[in-house]
Amino acid sequence: MSYDDLIEVTGRVNDFLNAGSVLSWDARTMMPKGGAESRSKQLATLAVAARNLLCSDEMKRALDGAARDVAGKSDDSPEARIVAQVREAIDYHERIPAALLHRKTELGSAAHEVWADAREKADFSIFAPALTDMVDINREMAHAIGFEAHPYDALMYRFEPGTTHEGLATLFARLRDGMIPLVRAISEAEKPRSDFLFRDFPEDAQMGFALDMAKRIGYDTDRGRLDTTVHPFEVSFTRNDVRITTRVSRDYLPMSLFGALHEAGHAMYEQGVDPAYTRTPLATDLVSLYAVGGVSFGAHESQSRLWENHVGRSRAFWANHMGDIRVAYPGLLDDVDEEEFYRAVNRSEPSFIRVEADELTYDFHIMVRCELEAKMVDGSLEVADLPEAWNATIKDYLGIDVPNDGKQGVLQDVHWSSGQIGTFCNYTIGNIMAAQLFETATRTTPDIHASLDRADYAPLRNWLTDNVAQHGRRFSRDELLEKATGRTLDPEPYLAHLTTKYSDIYALA
Ligand code: ZN
Repeated sequence: MSYDDLIEVTGRVNDFLNAGSVLSWDARTMMPKGGAESRSKQLATLAVAARNLLCSDEMKRALDGAARDVAGKSDDSPEARIVAQVREAIDYHERIPAALLHRKTELGSAAHEVWADAREKADFSIFAPALTDMVDINREMAHAIGFEAHPYDALMYRFEPGTTHEGLATLFARLRDGMIPLVRAISEAEKPRSDFLFRDFPEDAQMGFALDMAKRIGYDTDRGRLDTTVHPFEVSFTRNDVRITTRVSRDYLPMSLFGALHEAGHAMYEQGVDPAYTRTPLATDLVSLYAVGGVSFGAHESQSRLWENHVGRSRAFWANHMGDIRVAYPGLLDDVDEEEFYRAVNRSEPSFIRVEADELTYDFHIMVRCELEAKMVDGSLEVADLPEAWNATIKDYLGIDVPNDGKQGVLQDVHWSSGQIGTFCNYTIGNIMAAQLFETATRTTPDIHASLDRADYAPLRNWLTDNVAQHGRRFSRDELLEKATGRTLDPEPYLAHLTTKYSDIYALA
């Protein structure tokens, strides 16, 4: 068999995964409640089919043939990378015993209801036994996958390859040093006016404006669409059909718009992948088994955060679009000027809920989760002691007292109920990468700043396509960063961005 055979068989894996993505898009946007049970079976069947095809004898024979065919190519050629990635993915999946995976899936579906009940009642003891089992299963998985220094490294590998517990600790310490003084100073500063964000904004107008702005920054709706959901997300079924969703709150304006800009950022990553990579492993994450072109979850998040925060929450953006938003909501924003609007959508205040946190305090919510997850996995924190550790860490970082273990506390996120441990770091890595890429783009291509000032988003978008999106999964996250910015992950541009922005908005000395 040959390299072409490998492309053919991995193309079929991509088809299974994309079919699953269509079903999951439908489940999250259109499906009536009653469809849930059979849908989860359908999704599991497709995921297992994809995994089995990946690890099949047919795939291995194709891989051997392909390895011979590409032997003369350079190590970073697309062909050599495809062969290496397929080999690595097969190796990863074969290390995890089928029985362990089965236990995790079974527990995941049972634990979800238990978690929802515990969260509703704000009673951690209801969820503790299921979480204990989940932590045990994840620890077993970490040992099966293998790691050098810390079991958490093995769990993060699936989402953010190359990230280690030790590296994360260093990164978090640096972020805290830079950010805690800002958070403390802001809590004592005068708050910007924000009353006008809480008026009655018709839902249709919100969806219309969100879509207009997503298109304006470059989201291609000939290859995409926007729908409404409870939890916004982006999903691609190849680069030619990349869908986004946002959520609408009638009495809170920013949610629908920034949700759409965020997801459009994810979408433009997928829409910008080299067309030649369609259906290949360079547009298929064979380790996490998602049909995506993004190189890591953090890299993906960098594109959404960049468009949401560095563009959508910038002063230039509101200087340009204040007129548009007044037209979208006739009479509702006549008493607000662009500077007031800019400040209002950048208010920062320590809060309890991750998904509602602002740009400055968001990362503290991530640090809490990563640190406590790692401790549970290595056994230095008992599950029973988790709520106390959670509350103490939130108090330490954000200076606030968590009122309960439910929606505002340790039970707020769905992730642990499905057994996902090791995924939270990608949000903070995305924030850091976004600032690093934006800083380089605007410094090395001076026209980008000028173009943003005149609401022309093409030069920035083109830079991101050339330096990030087009490569798909060809390079690792750090290789991509080195090529684009001359160095690996560096928190300094992010800290500089936050310091400059918030010192200005809150007139800090
Ligand atoms: Zn995102």
